[in-house]
Amino acid sequence: MPLILALDEGTTSARAALYDETGSLLAMESRPAPCLYPQPGWVEQDGEAIWLAQCEAARAVLALASGRRVAVMGITNQRETTLVWDRRTGRPLTPAIVWQCRRTVAACAALHASGRAAEITRRTGLMVDPYFSATKIRWILEHAPGAEEQARGGDLLFGTVDTWLVWKLTGGRQHVTDVSNASRTMLMNLETGDWDPYLLDAFGIPRVMLPRIVSSAEYVGDTDPGNFGVALPIAALAGDQQAALAGQACFRPGLSKNTYGTGCFALLHTGANPPTSRHGLVATRAASFPQEAAYAIEGSTFVAGAAVQWLRDQLGVLRTAAESEELAQSLPDNGGVYLVPAFAGLGAPHWDAQARGLLTGVTAACTKAHLARAALESIAYQTCELIQAMEADGGGPLTELRVDGGAAVNNFLMQFQADMLGKPIVRPADVETTARGAAYLAGLAAGVWSGIAEIESFWRPERRFEPNMDPSVRDRNWEGWQEAVARCRRR
Ligand code: ADP
Repeated sequence: MPLILALDEGTTSARAALYDETGSLLAMESRPAPCLYPQPGWVEQDGEAIWLAQCEAARAVLALASGRRVAVMGITNQRETTLVWDRRTGRPLTPAIVWQCRRTVAACAALHASGRAAEITRRTGLMVDPYFSATKIRWILEHAPGAEEQARGGDLLFGTVDTWLVWKLTGGRQHVTDVSNASRTMLMNLETGDWDPYLLDAFGIPRVMLPRIVSSAEYVGDTDPGNFGVALPIAALAGDQQAALAGQACFRPGLSKNTYGTGCFALLHTGANPPTSRHGLVATRAASFPQEAAYAIEGSTFVAGAAVQWLRDQLGVLRTAAESEELAQSLPDNGGVYLVPAFAGLGAPHWDAQARGLLTGVTAACTKAHLARAALESIAYQTCELIQAMEADGGGPLTELRVDGGAAVNNFLMQFQADMLGKPIVRPADVETTARGAAYLAGLAAGVWSGIAEIESFWRPERRFEPNMDPSVRDRNWEGWQEAVARCRRR
């Protein structure tokens, strides 16, 4: 039986995975894709480095196919990250502006001041915030020499990472994105699923530079044989969080998941009607099949696992991210130490682009174990805020939470999450649901699987974490967190 290849270009690494027709993961390879921090609040990546990391990961995993034929491939990617490149040379004009980058804070503030923000939110389901692609594209047009004119003349192409990878994979023949990625650009009308003239005007983006929008599960083109030795059909594209929702087999209204990666992303599938959030979350497209719009409510926090990474890479207090578990567990409690990792401002439900990180409650007794614990606890507290908002938006009460992502393997974090949320946490056998979701979508598009019922039968829980915390401790923790968040707010 043929295999399915999934490419998963995340913020910290590019992965490639092979699945068989039973949904089993056969092999996964990963290559690092480093972020650059040229100024406080700025986050960039080299577009060519993203491509090379992804290509190398794909080649490495294809070498493990043991002669079995790969029938189809799907792509999932970090969303909102923005590239603009020259149509003829294929060269990006600037480094990719990563989703976490705050360089367009002033542009967003100006949109709020001009009174256009409410209409933009009404059309897109999103908050006006530097997170989304539109102001990032505008920044490139304003700062790369000659870009404005070249863009109007049709010489430049915009793409999120899915678009960039497909363009590279197909040797520049396809310039496409899918609805789930397009719904994060702040240029797509959430209901029509097309680029919206009002939004293009509000952000000053020429339509000619935008890709064609396709569904998340349809054939978009073959890879150039120069890349992998064979021409592979690309049959799925989806933003990483929407792919993770699919990878958790959440295809029906009311099903939800939370991903613990660089950031935290809670998504609730809401079916065929566009939702509206009244509690600081955003409305977005879920991975959608041709002629079948699907929607989700989403809460995203910008820094989750990245707080652990910060302790490891910037402060050097951890050797590995996994070490945070043992350190946190070595303490009976947090000792009153809280970390608000607002390194890139605060996302949902606060939307405070100017907030910055804060460590509170530090005494001379504070050790690196407290730092590790505070970082892990902050991930759980932020998730509680998202889930509370989601329930208030009418999605709840949720009976349990399905989890995934790199940091979901941390047992301290999962138990603490169950305790603070007061709900069971269910971790599937495979926490790499992002790549899995891309494989599912591609396999469904190519007819490897009969439909979503077959995909649902693949979902396997590995461990359940039941809430087990004294309510007085929970209340004290929650108060401490809220106080710390209030202190770091700028708005
Ligand atoms: P992304 O797809 O956003 O690149 P991943 O899902 O691969 O992210 O998760 C990587 C993140 O998870 C990193 O920020 C890392 O610090 C964190 N992480 C990985 N393992 C652990 C662990 N055992 N405990 C806590 N955090 C972890």
